[in-house]
Amino acid sequence: MRCRICKGKPVIYMPHHRLALCGEHFTGWFERYVDRTVKEFNMFSEESKVLVAVSGGKDSLALWYVLRKLGYTADGFYIDLGIGDYSEKSTEKVREFADRIGAKLIVEKLSESVATLPEIERFTSREACSVCGLVKRYNFNKVAKEYGYDVLATGHNLDDEASSLLSNVINWNTKYLGRKYPVLEAEEGFVKKVKPLCKLTEKETALYSVLNGIDFLEEECPYSEDANTIFYKQVLNQIEEKFPGTKLRFYLEYLRKVYPVFKEDKEGKITSCKVCGEPSPTEVCPLCRLRERVLNLNLNGA
Ligand code: SF4
Ligand code: ZN
Ligand code: ZN
Repeated sequence: MRCRICKGKPVIYMPHHRLALCGEHFTGWFERYVDRTVKEFNMFSEESKVLVAVSGGKDSLALWYVLRKLGYTADGFYIDLGIGDYSEKSTEKVREFADRIGAKLIVEKLSESVATLPEIERFTSREACSVCGLVKRYNFNKVAKEYGYDVLATGHNLDDEASSLLSNVINWNTKYLGRKYPVLEAEEGFVKKVKPLCKLTEKETALYSVLNGIDFLEEECPYSEDANTIFYKQVLNQIEEKFPGTKLRFYLEYLRKVYPVFKEDKEGKITSCKVCGEPSPTEVCPLCRLRERVLNLNLNGA
């Protein structure tokens, strides 16, 4: 097998595109592919101010890097969850990376607004990943609006999107099927959200990061992804091995044929939280309720 462009030694073969490429041509292909995805879904333009949610991992740093290389105005936003050594290392990686690319980075510490993630888990007995999801959704939206960004971009890749799609299809979670799209337009206090890497596999973003010297944190979060997510990713990889191209087709055909059917099946009415003013499905938003609970438990010496 040879690189399709220069006939040199390939570093990757992508069966879903029937394409083998060398390092240099893969980098160029990857960047054009991201740009095409941005334009295809009308995610943002050269005039937009983009805030990239970064974690220190390969996907979010690769996204930040590629958007800036493509000439977009993209700053970074990082939430320090206070997960001991892991958070210290990821904070360092993100700060170093921001310095390297000369980009603005906004950092929020969860310990300053509520408590560290391990403390919240201990106080409330809620699963760390579910608290983490809540905290991220809330802060991504709030900070993007506060700092005047037009759009929030996350580094979700094809493996993330296809595996969560599979688990929701298996459970016929139609509410989810009506919201699963690479672009969520701004509405009722929500900033626009986009996923420019949604058509690129984990393997492709990892290779792009390595080829471009992106120094990401390889260590997994100690809470790691829940076992179900990992299982669905493994199942999809097995199917992909037997039937190359299935993963991308599964996702793209959903976007084309299934999403439009469920699109209107959105969750109930959104109001404003009476404590913080952020959009909420209830009178007091889930984050303010969590904060109140942690505060009460603290005062009672839990
Ligand atoms: Fe958050 Fe869980 Fe991911 Fe860790 S593994 S970053 S706690 S969602
Ligand atoms: Zn080549
Ligand atoms: Zn609130």
